[in-house]
Amino acid sequence: MAVPVPRPVIDAVPAYRPGRPAPSDALKLSSNENPFGPLPSVAQAAGAELTRMNRYPDAGMTRLYGALEAALEVPADQFAAGTGSVAVLYSLLSAYCSPGDEVVYAWRSFEAYPIAVELSGARSVRVPLRPDGTHDLDAMAAAVTDRTKVVLVCTPNNPTGPVVRHDDLVSFVDRLRDDVVVVVDEAYQEFVREPLAARGLPLVLEGRPNVVVLRTFSKAYGLAGLRVGYLCGPAAIAESVRKATAPFSVTDVAQAAAVASLAAVDELAERVDAVVAEREVLLAGLRAQGWEVPDSQSNFVWLPLGDDAVEFAAAVEPVAVRAFAGDGVRVSVGDPEVDAQLLKAAGVWIAGR
Ligand SMILES: *Cc1c(COP(=O)(O)O)cnc(C)c1O
Repeated sequence: MAVPVPRPVIDAVPAYRPGRPAPSDALKLSSNENPFGPLPSVAQAAGAELTRMNRYPDAGMTRLYGALEAALEVPADQFAAGTGSVAVLYSLLSAYCSPGDEVVYAWRSFEAYPIAVELSGARSVRVPLRPDGTHDLDAMAAAVTDRTKVVLVCTPNNPTGPVVRHDDLVSFVDRLRDDVVVVVDEAYQEFVREPLAARGLPLVLEGRPNVVVLRTFSKAYGLAGLRVGYLCGPAAIAESVRKATAPFSVTDVAQAAAVASLAAVDELAERVDAVVAEREVLLAGLRAQGWEVPDSQSNFVWLPLGDDAVEFAAAVEPVAVRAFAGDGVRVSVGDPEVDAQLLKAAGVWIAGR
């Protein structure tokens, strides 16, 4: 009997694996979420939109783009928002890639990249990270061919944590053809304290024709559950990405929460500072126990456990962490008590080795 058959890529790609569930939200250190609940002003703005749920959202996202224009000092037509920056990446890849094209990115990096790339019809070209968890931009530049349409640079890199240096990013972009889209994924940029770290926005402001920045409200802004992220780049690319995005995808609830968050950025910055301080506590604690942890400029730390990754994740339960089999474990920064619980379990583990 004949049955409907999806494109072969649907069988080939793995399903996205979400962070391990935990007995409670506080114990979930597996998805890089913000441990703080929503700000009252943000919850109120979002809640007010619930009474209008019979209406379609503002498809033009005028308030959101206006608020981003004011916050980033970039004209509104240079933004494209979507249901999380991952969804924006899907739109960008569908707008720029045809079957047989190539997308270059570092590996290991964000789990969503291979899935997004392959679903678009393009081929993944993965360039191994250096042993310290940083991008090897020379090797990435060398991996670019005539078929390369997009290059993804994740800084800070998920899941290893280090940033690309700004001068390295500039010389990397200088070496690429202008028709290769360079996506600087800055999902964690608010947590960066390294002064030499890469910043994509100045390259956009310089008017580079091919550099875009991806940002999200899911991490530092604590809106992971509402799904809103955006791209900032040349107007031509932003327009193509908006066209490739399903209409009405970002709800008014999410748009209102994002706008209210941009208005409360000082209050949110205090929370981000607390997460950064806690990250340093976690890094120092782990290193004191003898762990070799790469520098993290994000809200997570990386334990290069190799073949022990899955076993370690089981050993630290009920704290839920993210194991990448054969490679390592990513631990999100959480509440100090839960981080202390994790640290204790990590100490027991390493003492037993
Ligand atoms: C979390 C994350 C994102 C954003 O996710 P959304 O919730 O879809 O906005 C993007 N890139 C990286 C590397 C991430 O870790």
